[in-house]
Amino acid sequence: MSASYRGRFAPSPTGPLHFGSLVTGLASYLDARARDGGWLVRIEDLDPLRESEEAVTLILRSLEAHGLQGDEPVRFQSERHDAYEATVDKLLACHKAYRCICSRKELNEHDGQHPHHCLEYRHSPEHPHAIRLRLESRLESWTDRLLGAQNLKVCAELDDPVIKRKEGFYAYQLAVVVDDIDQGVTDIVRGSDLLETTPAQLQLYRLLGSEAPSYLHIPVIINTEGQKLSKQTHAPPLIDDQAGANLCRALEALGQQPPRYLSQESPERILAWGRDHWQPSQIPLTSAAMPDYA
Ligand code: GLU
Repeated sequence: MSASYRGRFAPSPTGPLHFGSLVTGLASYLDARARDGGWLVRIEDLDPLRESEEAVTLILRSLEAHGLQGDEPVRFQSERHDAYEATVDKLLACHKAYRCICSRKELNEHDGQHPHHCLEYRHSPEHPHAIRLRLESRLESWTDRLLGAQNLKVCAELDDPVIKRKEGFYAYQLAVVVDDIDQGVTDIVRGSDLLETTPAQLQLYRLLGSEAPSYLHIPVIINTEGQKLSKQTHAPPLIDDQAGANLCRALEALGQQPPRYLSQESPERILAWGRDHWQPSQIPLTSAAMPDYA
């Protein structure tokens, strides 16, 4: 196994896996295996109000049914609070994070500027507050392996992401980077709906003194109404006992061309075919429709 490539699939357990999440998981898996790299599964269970134990069980069961097994035990972000807290403390101590008492409504009414002057004043920790990352205004440029040169402008204050919520939950923008660094992830393959989160993550990598990974953002899968498949848009759960057909459809959505006979094979054989024939340059650039299951 190549020591220089480590990929991961990091679903949030808001519901069972659907076709869109299978496409993302499969793309990250094949990209890793085609490079002889390692591949990890991480459950991003940061928000108990939106997530459930049942979804975790269903996701892990679906991954197993589709042959998508990580090389190490599954990591759960709900067990990583100490690491996130230590990072928040470190960022606060060097003034790269600040306590924010503004509500979303207040921020919207002030075009994203903080009416309570959160940036300048240290609010007392007793007052209910979120913690935000202090971004630097600059153009973030990087090369996405599929989408090519990316240039996204970061606006300090307006874009400062919450890294710890008022309710005490750690936020995605913090946890994803802390764990990708901790797990030595070198290559991120994920949905293009997360493209816009990349600039803030690049700044966080720099603040934490780590090299950023390479990125490949794949198009999201949409339903007949043109909406991204998700729990909110009522994406149907994957049917685990159709794993072969699901995997072949996912390969097609990724622009790979599996032979017809392949969907009758075991998930292991389909994944081996996918690894041997993986051509990331064939992934379509725009959103693909969910295949018809009828
Ligand atoms: N947990 C995120 C999601 O389910 C993915 C995180 C990432 O790949 O950066 O959308």
